[in-house]
Amino acid sequence: MKALLVIDMIRGFTDEGALKVLGASNMIPYINKKIQEMEDLNKPVFYIRDNHSEDDYELKNFPTHCLYGTEEARPSKNLHITEEAYPRDSKMIVSKQTIDCFYQTDLDKKLWNNWVQVGDEVGVVGVVTELCVDAAVRGLAIRGYKPIVFKNGITGINPELAEATANMWINYFGVKVV
Ligand SMILES: [Zn+2]
Repeated sequence: MKALLVIDMIRGFTDEGALKVLGASNMIPYINKKIQEMEDLNKPVFYIRDNHSEDDYELKNFPTHCLYGTEEARPSKNLHITEEAYPRDSKMIVSKQTIDCFYQTDLDKKLWNNWVQVGDEVGVVGVVTELCVDAAVRGLAIRGYKPIVFKNGITGINPELAEATANMWINYFGVKVV
């Protein structure tokens, strides 16, 4: 595995707010362990976060959440990431304004700049399985990366949809769910 994507492990989804995901904060020790494993191997971890403006199109379909500069947009409590690095768009942070971490972001370029290339395995953890995690997994797969999803490190809002989503990854995109 050449890199790890940590999707939306921010307070608006794990600690508070209109879109708080039940059980998401319970995954933090596991996700921290995956982050540590990558750091021990000197491999890149990319922190993807919602970072909305009030006029973002997505907020017509979902309750207002994770606005730029608010508490909700900060990293989840106890997530292994340096707080100083987070508010700015440092080289390992990707801010997005839709469910898709590749849409109008430089994630592709950041992967390339960290020697992650098409054909390489890229790990995925975070929330929400059937929304932003799904967009990340498909985004990786359609670009030719090989996603590996850690099932103890993802969770959904709707368990049935989350399970169906994981089955789609496996059956249509050859994704490893481990
Ligand atoms: Zn959002």
